[in-house]
Amino acid sequence: MLTVEEALERILAEITRLGQETVALPEALGRVLAQPIASAESVPPFANSAMDGYALRSADAKDASQSHPRRLRLIGTVQAGSVADRSVGAGEAMRILTGAPLPPGADAVIQQELTQTGEGWVELQEPVAPGNNVRHAGEDIQPGTRVLEEGAVLGPSELGVLASLGVAEVAVYRRPVVSILATGDELVEVHERLQPGQIRNSNSYLVAAAVTQAGGVARRLGIARDQVDELRAKLLAAQEGDLIITSGGVSVGDYDLVKDILREQGVIDFWRVNLRPGKPLAFGRLGGTPLLGLPGNPVSAAVTFELFARPVLRKMQGYKNWLRPLVTARLLDHLNDPSHRRHYVRARLELRQDGFVATTTGPQGSHILTSMLGANALLVIPEHHPALHPGDLVQALALIEGLA
Ligand code: AMP
Ligand code: MG
Repeated sequence: MLTVEEALERILAEITRLGQETVALPEALGRVLAQPIASAESVPPFANSAMDGYALRSADAKDASQSHPRRLRLIGTVQAGSVADRSVGAGEAMRILTGAPLPPGADAVIQQELTQTGEGWVELQEPVAPGNNVRHAGEDIQPGTRVLEEGAVLGPSELGVLASLGVAEVAVYRRPVVSILATGDELVEVHERLQPGQIRNSNSYLVAAAVTQAGGVARRLGIARDQVDELRAKLLAAQEGDLIITSGGVSVGDYDLVKDILREQGVIDFWRVNLRPGKPLAFGRLGGTPLLGLPGNPVSAAVTFELFARPVLRKMQGYKNWLRPLVTARLLDHLNDPSHRRHYVRARLELRQDGFVATTTGPQGSHILTSMLGANALLVIPEHHPALHPGDLVQALALIEGLA
């Protein structure tokens, strides 16, 4: 039996990053940059005012004080988006608004609130240092600076910085197209009426949503019956994308044909992984496309997706970090269900003043999908662990987007 880590290592060793594509900035959110970005420009592009006030020569204000105010002649106004039509000379000041370019001659801005004004003049009662309230050209970004490296994950701040540089489109790694196939004679689609002995195909919807959240493009290929010809045809159709995810049919049951056909068609390993829920797992290639065969039980499919498929999708997209963050939490309830296998327990993490606390979300059977509702973590309970009690510290995989 493989450990979770061994299985993941074997899988990731077979996965390579996908190629690049160029996308417009709004489509780049959450994607991974495939090229470094250097600035061709200064940001800000010109010296400008940080305040509404008066642009002046600081030398004129050197000796200003309450007892000796200094009066300067007002020679006009410069607003954001325009440029001054003349320069500021000795004894002069120009009204300036936030973001407007500093007029030639001026080297400082005094904010409006610190001045007195009258018809054609402004009076200062304190000295003004050179550069006061001036945002210098290139103060944020100098031309030629590398602002982002290959591998950077593009969030709102990255997109804002790229926009400030005039970068309208970027090269990012492609999103993996994932073909999702459910297998089982007992399955019907969500809109169908259940006949005796049938259940609904929930795995395809759960897995497709998880693929989308992990940055992939999900293609649901429906249900394949446990019949050799149908299964073979549907698996062949699934080879077009970057990854195939099947559910069901990988355990030891008589009707687990997926195994047989995969053996016949591709290079596939069948593993027993030392975890609960979700022991059986298939991995290999079908016509060159990697395939992950998840167990059929809904919670097992969800947990094995989290542990194995999500890292695959992240690696394909060029993320440097494939794993969810592991945090330490204080258990709030009992866990009286020791297992010799590594147990991933659905739980709700909450951040309190003294750190994370975790509450389990109810019955942990691999068919109890509702215990995934409200779960934002999987507690990682080590192999051969005794029962756990309130107050015990546990490790938890935080299933929270954006935390890593
Ligand atoms: P299997 O791995 O095919 O033996 O399936 C294990 C269990 O998961 C069985 O109870 C199946 O009915 C159930 N199951 C398999 N596929 C799905 C699916 N797509 N949606 C919901 N339950 C499933
Ligand atoms: Mg089955």
